[in-house]
This record gives sequence, C-alpha cells and structure tokens, in this order.
Amino acid sequence: MIQVFQYPYETLLQTSTAWTEADSIEGYGDKEKFESDMIKLMLDERGMGLAANQIGITKRFFAIGHDSFDTFQKHAIIWNPQVINASEEKVIDVEGCLSFKNVFVKVERPKIIEVQYETTQGKTEFAKLDGMESKCFQHELDHLDGITFNKRVSKLRWQMANKG
Ligand SMILES: [Zn+2]
Repeated sequence: MIQVFQYPYETLLQTSTAWTEADSIEGYGDKEKFESDMIKLMLDERGMGLAANQIGITKRFFAIGHDSFDTFQKHAIIWNPQVINASEEKVIDVEGCLSFKNVFVKVERPKIIEVQYETTQGKTEFAKLDGMESKCFQHELDHLDGITFNKRVSKLRWQMANKG
C-alpha cells in the first residue's frame, strides 16, 4: 500500500535520482498497477500532482493531472521530468501540498515553462505549460529535488500561511 507522507518525512528532503529501465517499484511487479494506485491516491487526496518522494520513493517521477489542464487533462505519471526553458515573467499564486495538510501559501514562479519528460511507454515528450498546470509541474519537480514549497517563500509569509 502506498501513502502520502507528511513533512518533514525524510524522503521529502532528499534529491531523487533518474528513473531507468532497470528500476522497479518495490511491492509492485506490475508498473501499470502501480500507476493506477498512485493516481487513485492523488485523486482520493484531491491533489493535482503527487511526487514520488511524497510516497517514499526517491526516483524522478510524479503524477499530474486535472480537468482544467491542457497537456495533462488526463491523469498521468511522467518520468524524468525537466524544465528546459522558463519565462522571465513570473506569477504569484496560491499553492497547496498533500504533504502539508491545510496549508495554502502564495508562491512566486515563472509563468510559462517548456518541459521534457518520458511517458510510461518510454517516449520523450515536450510541452509548453502555462497557468496552474505550469505551477503544478514546477511544484512537483521541486519535490524531486527535495525542495518543498515552504522553502520557496519568505519566513514571514510562511508563518502567516500557517496561522490560517
Ligand atoms: Zn507538494
């Protein structure tokens, strides 16, 4: 069974390593079964993204998807994601995180990003993301580098967010 760990669980602080064909998920012989379990967990928790290290796995992949998104309208797990270009223009908007229950804070990030990732079938894909989808991708990618969103805001803003 997979579960979402809460900050500061140790894997949330670690940098994840690339997913390779030699890798497998502990407890799962079947990658497709794992994928559907991870996506189900994300949806049950009402998330639009869920990084591998949030479920205790320090490999570079995350689940992403929401009805309002353009590229990831359909929920998917993407592997070895990277940002290859980011706009100078930045936006500040509210984010939540499944590893920080009931904390919502405004985080500044590049508005538009160009990304690269691998599909489950091992195909390399490229996309240009904007809006909440861009934000979500950047938030999840940060997780893979051990960066939780509390590290992206000032101490004051974080304290205010935690007061509710
Ligand atoms: Zn998060």
